[in-house]
Amino acid sequence: MSDKRTSVLVVEDDDAVRNLIVTALGSHGYQWISATTGEEAVAAIAESTPDIVLLDLGLPDIDGQKVIAKVRLWSQVPIIVVSARSDDLDKISALDAGADDFLSKPFSVGELLARIRTTERHLSYMVREEPHGSVFENGDLQIDFVAGTVCLAGKDLHLTPREYRLLCLLARNVGRVLTHQFILREAWGGSQEGDLASLRVFMGNLRKKIGTQYIQTHVGVGYRMVRV
Ligand code: CA
Repeated sequence: MSDKRTSVLVVEDDDAVRNLIVTALGSHGYQWISATTGEEAVAAIAESTPDIVLLDLGLPDIDGQKVIAKVRLWSQVPIIVVSARSDDLDKISALDAGADDFLSKPFSVGELLARIRTTERHLSYMVREEPHGSVFENGDLQIDFVAGTVCLAGKDLHLTPREYRLLCLLARNVGRVLTHQFILREAWGGSQEGDLASLRVFMGNLRKKIGTQYIQTHVGVGYRMVRV
């Protein structure tokens, strides 16, 4: 990690929650700025170019989804959405709109810092990597997008076409939680109700082949490839 401190934009209209978050960030060496409305958040992202955005979905003016949609037109800044545990559907639509991760309220300071560290790890890869590189590497896993081959610890892996599409989709979005709907749409070309069961089967088979450490399950939401 470089010596430049990571800057976090905290978007939260609840004063008590916002104060808790920025105090925790400040005491752990992060720079922070804050916003209390969606319009302020969009302006702050454009003007201050934070490294990470922590975005409450329930804001007084425009809702968090709209903030994400606006920002994603011109910025790839990692966005972690924060919402109440019961609002699974909100979380899912925020991820589909382009958020990278989510944190459920109530959360502990430890959880918050862990999510931010995970995002920082992905950021350091985003900076180092060629944006359109044809070879993807993650631990022992190597995907050559041009040749269409996958190696694990130097050995060729044999994947079915659908497993390969699934793996490429996860790899191209490494660090992001992808919703079931998104995966079904992108890798299956459809999203029938029954497809979710078959997605689970394919994911299980893929994990058997590449190992369990690369793909996280987010129950009720989707999957994410993590950097190992
Ligand atoms: Ca709120």
